[in-house]
Amino acid sequence: MTDWSMLAVALSGKFLGIEWHTWKVIGWVGNVCFFSRFIVQWYASERRQQVVIPSAFWWLSLSGCLCLLSYATFYQRDSVFIFANAFSWIPYLRNLVIHKRSKRASRACVECGIRSPAQASYCADCGTFLRDTEKRD
Ligand SMILES: [Zn+2]
Repeated sequence: MTDWSMLAVALSGKFLGIEWHTWKVIGWVGNVCFFSRFIVQWYASERRQQVVIPSAFWWLSLSGCLCLLSYATFYQRDSVFIFANAFSWIPYLRNLVIHKRSKRASRACVECGIRSPAQASYCADCGTFLRDTEKRD
């Protein structure tokens, strides 16, 4: 940003037409979290060439939800906006717990390192037999 544009921001109190303060930053962080989660999910799916929902998706969902709920509750005080975010954190948190439990129970392939469900006999990625003696981490 040039000195002139910084001066314009300082004089008007606005940047990109938005008047910035702490609650606006929290609200926009929530929006950025929600927006970026679809990019994270899309990237993970393209990388694996199958539909994947990584734990980062749920962390971004939870973070975005809590930021927007705080913004709606303490700044906007808008009952519609509050209700829209009041309960969505519950499945996000539950999915994080389930994700952690399934990851803990999964088995890493000694050939490719890809994790498979605990009940799998063969690696879904390379087909290597998953022995019971494999290291679990
Ligand atoms: Zn493998």
